[in-house]
Amino acid sequence: MQFNTYGGTGTFLAVDLLNSADRGPEALSGILRAHRVTLPDIDADQARRLSAWVERLRPLFGETDRDRQIALLNGLLRESATCVQISTHDGADPHLHYVSQVPDTAERLKGTTSGGLAVALCGAGGDRLGCCARDGCRVVFVDTSRNGRRRFCSVACANRVNVAAHRARAAAR
Ligand SMILES: [Zn+2]
Ligand SMILES: [Zn+2]
Repeated sequence: MQFNTYGGTGTFLAVDLLNSADRGPEALSGILRAHRVTLPDIDADQARRLSAWVERLRPLFGETDRDRQIALLNGLLRESATCVQISTHDGADPHLHYVSQVPDTAERLKGTTSGGLAVALCGAGGDRLGCCARDGCRVVFVDTSRNGRRRFCSVACANRVNVAAHRARAAAR
């Protein structure tokens, strides 16, 4: 499957922002720069607003009730006043750009992230937006695996759960 199927930058940007423990302006600007976001340098107020926004995207990940997931995302899309344009800049494949009516990066990224997640949900399926199945781990991810059965954020989390299950079985014997 292609990168665009998963909503491109918007989806992966949302994931990286959600998984960032540091929500200060420097840390978030670094993530925006890594994703080649226009005007990536944000101040403390923008960082606070962006962080609050992405936390509202978190319940989309790992939601197994498709109707609820869609209703939640539609509500968020309604709040992001952006104009969508198809861009082919720098020789890239056609992809969506979210153009905000207001010149504020935190505001514009509402459209970028919710729009990206909407494309992922429609193109790849809502079950591709996952969160780690280990209790106490809040890491979210986009499941780009071929079979779409990814359960954990990392090998480390998968191993911890497997070891615990093994110990529980051994104790039961
Ligand atoms: Zn672009
Ligand atoms: Zn994990």
